[in-house]
Amino acid sequence: MDTLIVGAGFAGAVTARELAEAGERVLVVDKRPHVAGNAYDRLDAAGVLVHEYGPHIFHTNSESVFGWLSRFTTWRPYEHRVLAVPDASTGRAYPLPINRTTINSLYGLDLDEAGVAAFLERVREPREPIRTSEDVVLNSVGRDLCERFFRGYTRKQWGLDLSELAGGVAARIPTRTNDDDRYFSDRYQAMPAEGYTRLFERLLAHPNIEVRTGVEYAAVAGLDRRRTVFTGPIDEFYGRRFGALPYRSLRFEHEHLAGTTQLQPVGTVNYPNDHAWTRITEFKHLSGQQHAGSSVVREIPQDMDAPGAEPYYPIPNPANEALYKRYEALAEAETEVFFLGRLAQYRYYNMDQVVAAALALARRLTAQRRAQPAP
Ligand code: FAD
Repeated sequence: MDTLIVGAGFAGAVTARELAEAGERVLVVDKRPHVAGNAYDRLDAAGVLVHEYGPHIFHTNSESVFGWLSRFTTWRPYEHRVLAVPDASTGRAYPLPINRTTINSLYGLDLDEAGVAAFLERVREPREPIRTSEDVVLNSVGRDLCERFFRGYTRKQWGLDLSELAGGVAARIPTRTNDDDRYFSDRYQAMPAEGYTRLFERLLAHPNIEVRTGVEYAAVAGLDRRRTVFTGPIDEFYGRRFGALPYRSLRFEHEHLAGTTQLQPVGTVNYPNDHAWTRITEFKHLSGQQHAGSSVVREIPQDMDAPGAEPYYPIPNPANEALYKRYEALAEAETEVFFLGRLAQYRYYNMDQVVAAALALARRLTAQRRAQPAP
C-alpha cells in the first residue's frame, strides 16, 4: 500500500481514485458499514431511494468538478425548492430564500421588484460591522422577517442564538427581489441518476483501490505505508488533546407513507418555529422516482452528548475556530499525514467543494511523488 485513506466519503473516495489512476496502491477504510459518507443513499423497505443522513442536493458552479464526477454517473436535472412554514397553526408556506412572493403573500402586498427592494430597504436594520448571523439577517431583511424565518430555525439547528453564530452561516442564504424560488442558483444543479452510492461504487472500482468498510482507523493505523489521508475528525486523530471540537448533531427520523403519493409540494419544507424538527424532506422530488407511496425524513438537531450522536456540523464561532487552529498547527507539522474534508478541516464544505479540495490534494501528492521517487 502507498496511501491509507481514512473515510470513504467524497474527500476520501475522490482522493483514492486520483491516486489510483496515478499508479498508487490505495487502501480506503471507513468505520461505517458502507461507502459514500454522508451522501450515502439506499432503497428503504418500501423501495424508495432515500438519503440516510439527510437530503444531499448536488449543486456547483465548477465545470471541472461537474465534469470529473460525470465520469461516474449520469445526472437528473433537479432544482431544489424550499418552503418555510413560520406558523404551523396556519400551515401557510412561503418560499425560502425570501423573494418577491414571500414578501407579497406574507404581508398581503402586490409589489414589483423595485417595490420589494424599497420594502427591504425600509425594514432592514443596517449593521456595521457585520460579524454575527444576526447582523447579516437584520442588515438584509430586518426584524420581523428575522423572527419569523431565521431566529427560531437557528436556535433549533445550532442550539445557539443568531447573535452567537458567525456571520458566514446566514450569509449562505440570499435574499431576492424577484420570483426566483430555487434554493440554489449554481450553474449545475442535478442529482446522480442512480443515486450517490452507485456513483461511489463506480468511483472506487479501480484495481489499485481496496475498500474495507466497518473498519476503524485504529485497526489499520499500524500498517506499513508511505502516507495517510485522514478525513475523520481532526481532534479525534490527536486524542482531543486540546479538548473536543464542538459539533452539532442530528437525528434522522425516516418514515414511509404508504398510499401517499405526495406529501408536500416541494423537496423540503422548513419549520422554523414549531416542532422538534427543522425540516421535512420528501425524497421523490429529488429523485423523480415513481412510487405509489412516499418517503420522508425529519431532521431533529441534537447535541453531541445524545446517545449515538455523530458529528455533522462544525459550529462556526471565534472560540471554536481558535481551537481548530491549534489542531491545524499540529496537522501542518505532519509530513506523511494529510487532513481533508468536512471533519478533518472543521469546515462546512458542500460536496462540490470537497471534491475540488480532494482533486487539488491528490494532484499535489502525485506531483510531489514524481519529484521524489520511492527509495
Ligand atoms: P463525510 O461524508 O462525513 O465522510 C467522512 C467519512 O469518514 C465518514 O463516512 C466516516 O464514517 C469516516 N470516518 C470518520 N472517522 C473515521 C475513523 N476514525 N475511522 C474510519 N472511518 C472514519 N452538501 C451539499 O453539497 N449539498 C447538500 O444538500 C448537503 N446537504 C447536507 C445535509 C446534511 C444533513 C449534512 C450533515 C451535510 C450536507 N452536505 C451537503 C455536506 C456534505 O455532507 C459534505 O460536503 C460531504 O459529506 C463531505 O464529505 P467528507 O468526505 O468530507 O465527509
